[in-house]
Order: sequence, then structure tokens, then C-alpha cells
Amino acid sequence: MTRTPNTVRRPAGPGATTEPRLAEQLAAADLVVVGSGFYGLTVAERVASQLGRRVVVLERRSHLGGNAWSEREPETGIEVHRYGAHLFHTSNQRVWDHVRQFTEFTGYQHRVFSVSKGQTYPMPINLGTINQFFGRHLGPEQARALVREHAAEIDPDQVTNLEDKAISLIGRPLYEAFVRGYTEKQWQTDPRELPAEVISRLPVRYTFDNRYFSDRYEGLPVDGYAAWLQRLATHALVDVVTDVDFFDVRALVPAGVPVVYTGPLDRYFDFGEGRLSWRTLDFEQEVLPIGDFQGCPVMNYADPDVPWTRIHEFRHFHPEREHPADRTVVVREYSRSAEAADEPYYPVNTAADRAVLARYRERAAAEPDVYFGGRLGTYQYLDMHMAIASALTTVDNVLTPRLTRTAV
Ligand code: UDP
Repeated sequence: MTRTPNTVRRPAGPGATTEPRLAEQLAAADLVVVGSGFYGLTVAERVASQLGRRVVVLERRSHLGGNAWSEREPETGIEVHRYGAHLFHTSNQRVWDHVRQFTEFTGYQHRVFSVSKGQTYPMPINLGTINQFFGRHLGPEQARALVREHAAEIDPDQVTNLEDKAISLIGRPLYEAFVRGYTEKQWQTDPRELPAEVISRLPVRYTFDNRYFSDRYEGLPVDGYAAWLQRLATHALVDVVTDVDFFDVRALVPAGVPVVYTGPLDRYFDFGEGRLSWRTLDFEQEVLPIGDFQGCPVMNYADPDVPWTRIHEFRHFHPEREHPADRTVVVREYSRSAEAADEPYYPVNTAADRAVLARYRERAAAEPDVYFGGRLGTYQYLDMHMAIASALTTVDNVLTPRLTRTAV
């Protein structure tokens, strides 16, 4: 038997702070979690089931789940990841064992292709990409030697930014074809100002293995992200209240009750140290009257003159499901710098951002009852498995001692 999540939808707007039910819920809470993404829900579920403490989760949107939320497109029934494709992968045994309590996973393995100057290549860069790009038939050692030659202009010990890192890994010709234009489009920032770690997310392989991720475990939730996320919220001691902005109701949180805050870090401090820069995404969704548009789940567009970064075709994420034979859902993804009113997706993390971040971190450390977590709350480019791992560690090391100490 599965319970439905304890989600209370609450009308937003004036007078919201006086809503008696919410005031009661907050008064009875042992922990308040702000934000119901993977980080917030994992904390809430663990605190409820491991510690037996009552948790209220406040969610600004009208649904829980943060950016991992998915919905069935009504006309086709195809599951669409509402805030961009989410692919679950991890090598962390604890995380893998943990998440499987809440969902089963399909055997999905992510594979991506990239269009560069009218040709389609496998991505990330592997022996297939290298051979096709240079029109050669090179084995692993020959390909390594060629790339080494192209990469010689960079001293790997002097690498400080994304561009140098990429050239040191793949050489300039492959960098120009597959990384520079894509990265400029995706980050709206000169690759020489971006941190080297962003490109280290992608493997470079001297085999024909074209899997996108190298992790031991990978898959998609069998019955979808929404079902998985909702299951995290079903514990009797967890209440998720949607349509409520923490900053409208924070006066209702009793003094001394700890808060786990997963919203934007700079917002918490009213932007007092300046704004951290974020990248936001725009999605353009279409139902097309054909059974298959591109033959794969994600096609990247590396050329700078194509305005979108990639196209997602969601039917291909679940080949095991029944989908209409004559309709498909495609979503074009566009990236741009986030303005104040936009949803923040990715921390840009330039040197200037890192200086601002250091000041916010100092202020965050001085808040005795607030724990900052998740991608927005820590200004970190966290994948789902990293957010979950970090939530589990916070429960172990911070919340368990704290909530056990104050137990009555
Ligand atoms: N990247 C690229 N070309 C590609 C795919 C990725 O240059 O075809 C670079 C780009 O800088 C990107 C980074 O690799 O920001 C990490 O890519 P990933 O696919 O991990 O980004 P995400 O899917 O999280 O947006």
C-alpha cells in the first residue's frame, strides 16, 4: 500500500501568513525544510523515519520535487522532465541503496549525440568521435598521440579555466568543434572565465564506449520522477505545503526550531553581499505528428549559430514504455543568464562569484539555526546523487545530534 503524499496546496497571496493550519503545522514542527527538491525531501524523509521527528516542508511552487519534477504530456502520455532532462547515475553505494527504497530503476543508459557543422557525432568524445572528425581509422594509442600533439600548446599544470582544461584534454580542433560554441551558448560566459571543473564532468574515452556517464549505477525511475519524489513525502510525520514562500511566513517558525534552507543562498541574505550569477533555461515544447523526430533522447548542437543548446525527445528515455506510434514530444533547450525574476538553474561560478560566495558562506556559518543545503543553498553544481549524498550526510552529522539533543 502506498500513501499519497501529505501535500497541502495553499492559496498564495495576501493574508497567507495568517492561515491557521500552516501556523499550527509550523508550531508543531521539529524541523522546517525550505524547498522540496531531492535535498529537502531526503532530509525530511530521513528525519521523520530515522529520528521520528515532525517535519514541515515549505515549497514556493505549486508542486513538490524541485527541478527533478516530471509530468505526463497530456496528449501523448509521454513523461516530460519539466525543468530539463534528469538522468540518474551514481557510483555511491550508499546513495544507490538508499534511493532504491523509493523507486525501481530501468536499465536506461544515457547516450548523447552532437551536431557540428552538419555532421552528427557521438558525445562525449570517444574513439568514434575522433575517427569520424579527423576522417581516420585510429586505434586508442594513435588517437592519444594525435590528441597529445593538438594539446601540446597547454601545460596541464598551469590550467586555471575551462578552455585551457578542455584543450589540455582534447586539443584545440576538437575543442573548437564540440566545446567552445556549446559552452558559450550554455553559459553565456567566455570559457576562459569558467572553472575547469565544469568540463571535467565529461569523460574523454579512447574506446568506442559512447555512454555519457561512467558511473557504476544508472537508470531512470520506472514509474517516473514525480512518483519517486512523491513517495519521499508520504511519511506520516512529513507535511509538504506548496504555494508558500518561506519569506512570507518565516515569522511563524518558532524560535529555536532548526531550518534547512535549500533556496538561493543570496536570496536568504536579501542579496546583501550582491547577486550570485546563475544560468537559467528556457524550454520550447512541441508535440509533433511523427513517431520519431531524432532517433535518440538528446541531440546537442555545438555550432554557435544554432540558438538552442540541445533538443530532448522524451519518448527515448523510456523505450520500455508504450508510446503513441504517430506522435512525439520534443523540447528545445535555450540557455541564458538569469535575471532576478528567472529560475536559477546552474551556478556560473566565475572568480567574482566565488568572492561573493565566500562572504555569504561566512554569514551562513553565523546562523545557528539554519543549515544551507542543495544546489541553490550552497551555490554548487550538484547532480541528483550528489544532493542526496549531501542530504544523508547532513542528517547524520548535523541534524541527528541536534534533534536528538533537543528531544523531549
Ligand atoms: N559540453 C560541451 N559540449 C557538449 C556537452 C557538454 O562543451 O556537447 C561542456 C559544456 O561546457 C557543459 C559541460 O560540458 O557545460 C558539462 O556538460 P553536462 O552535459 O554535464 O551539462 P548538463 O547536462 O548538466 O547541463
